[in-house]
Amino acid sequence: MIKDIIIAIDGHSGCGKSTTSKLVAEHFKYNYLDSGAMYRSVALYLLRKNINYLEIEKIREEINNIKIEFKYVDGIQNTFLNDENVEDEIRRENISKVVSKYSSIPLIRKHLVSLQKELGKRKQIVVEGRDITTVVFPDAEIKIFMTAEIETRAKRRFEDIKFNNPDVTFSDVLLNLKERDDKDTSRSDSPLRIAEGSEIIDTTHLEIDEQVKKITDLIEKRFS
Ligand code: C5P
Repeated sequence: MIKDIIIAIDGHSGCGKSTTSKLVAEHFKYNYLDSGAMYRSVALYLLRKNINYLEIEKIREEINNIKIEFKYVDGIQNTFLNDENVEDEIRRENISKVVSKYSSIPLIRKHLVSLQKELGKRKQIVVEGRDITTVVFPDAEIKIFMTAEIETRAKRRFEDIKFNNPDVTFSDVLLNLKERDDKDTSRSDSPLRIAEGSEIIDTTHLEIDEQVKKITDLIEKRFS
């Protein structure tokens, strides 16, 4: 048992952040918040309404109509957008391609950050994303920055998605990761960066269970 803390995890796309975060949450019997799923859901909602990322006034009109919830289905956390299970749809490449454009919009970020802060109020939670250690929970008891070489990340992501996305090639995935890295690190509002006091974990040569163990050992040492 550890005391009630917030475990904040940021990092590049495709370095195993989500899988690792889920397993760390399971290990401590904590809740898990996938902030990327929230940005993906907003992108899906706006795409369906044919609202592009430049139509700021339309986005402002719609933002309060977007309800995002997480519910367990057969033991697995799924994302619901206005009561519809969108877990599979938000992971598709058409969403991965546009999500960073929508996520750079300050009014979308402000809205989602306030929801995330609310969800973390009671602690006992693992939250992962791009600005969790810097903006959403800068005072989190433990901050982790995960990364890996881009080729390794692309290889892992390609293996994950190729079954559901048979038309997508390895070079499409590599290009998308590069573009998202660029956009996520260069945007003016809350860019991805390493927060002061973060533990840096490079997963290039680690298996998932090794990265999980690194993080859980670290936390147990500090907070048991
Ligand atoms: O983590 P995931 O790859 O699902 O995130 C999708 C996108 O959502 C990221 O590429 C990024 O543009 C955006 N995002 C963000 N801030 C977060 C989480 C995700 O801008 N905290």
